[in-house]
Amino acid sequence: MPDFTLTVEPRSSAAQRAEILTSPGFGARFSDHMSLIDWTADTGWTNHRVVPYAPFTLDPASAVLHYAQEAFEGLKAYAHADGSVWRFRAEVNAERFQRSCRRLGLPELSTDDFLASVDRLVEVDRDWVPTGAEQSLYLRPFMFARSPFLAVKPSTSVTYAVIASPSGAYFGGTGVQPVDIWFTRDFSRAAPGGTGFAKCGGNYAASMIAQQEAEANGCSQVGFVDAVEHRYVEELGGMNLFAVTTDGRVLTPALTDSILEGVTRGAILRLATESRLTVEERRITLDELYAGIDDGTIGEVFACGTAAIVTPVGSLRDRDGVHIVGDGTPGRVTLSLRTTLTDLQYGLRADTHGWMHRI
Ligand code: PMP
Repeated sequence: MPDFTLTVEPRSSAAQRAEILTSPGFGARFSDHMSLIDWTADTGWTNHRVVPYAPFTLDPASAVLHYAQEAFEGLKAYAHADGSVWRFRAEVNAERFQRSCRRLGLPELSTDDFLASVDRLVEVDRDWVPTGAEQSLYLRPFMFARSPFLAVKPSTSVTYAVIASPSGAYFGGTGVQPVDIWFTRDFSRAAPGGTGFAKCGGNYAASMIAQQEAEANGCSQVGFVDAVEHRYVEELGGMNLFAVTTDGRVLTPALTDSILEGVTRGAILRLATESRLTVEERRITLDELYAGIDDGTIGEVFACGTAAIVTPVGSLRDRDGVHIVGDGTPGRVTLSLRTTLTDLQYGLRADTHGWMHRI
């Protein structure tokens, strides 16, 4: 494992931290430290360190500010009842980060460096891992191009960082509340040959206007169809999508280069198979989804992701109408997959897959 130098300097008092941890929200409060690693084309990866959380100083010409040469990840550290802290399938995030960086013309960070950057930060900010129900420390690794030049070509210097944010429910509220999804017909998120499979800021920039449209229509998330035929369901702005038929099949769009391969998606597919549900990864048209919901053959729809865990979908909407899923309340399969996953993550169920790693 690479050596990280540690500069530990808490900026929050125990009382401030306790107040934040009582009601952390999502993604708005940050722990006391961050991990950093530098890269230049000449030196490779150097200067692995954990330092106090602080603003960056960036040259206004830094490539990321102009050409969005950037990629990121999202994963969580979970506190177990005995006080230990664990991460879930972080190697899978490390590999996806490598794929994202390759697509963005960024240097690849080794899995060892990725895992060490996360572990050292969590060790230093151990007291920032909340212990309430379904709370966790959300970790955000990211890499951005910082060469100060305006020519369009890959940067020769980058910064890699990890910041940590104590988090509760992504959609706010308590308990498992269904969300409504707005399927946009006007905006595409990602196209074949593009960057949809990569976790890069540009994809999210392209989704903001559609997210605005969703919120204007009373929905908390936007759903996207494919950019070529505008028929096939792809995913949500920040989550993958599943449907459950009343005869026990679990459907999700097959991966393409315009869909982000969720770490949660992979876990759900495995857990569903182990629960003797039939899993179908295939092309699914939005019309098929609407028809199944309307005639009752699709009884449950849910979204999944690191932040959202497994969130039931109450309705799908677009400018032509509303399709209420089941009776609008969380379905049995959705809740059971959700509980199986969270029990694993919080150490309440044996980790038979080797998905958990103690930090
Ligand atoms: N799709 C998109 C567009 C996302 O932003 C996310 C969140 N990372 C997901 C799917 C779910 O991925 P994961 O389960 O790895 O969080």
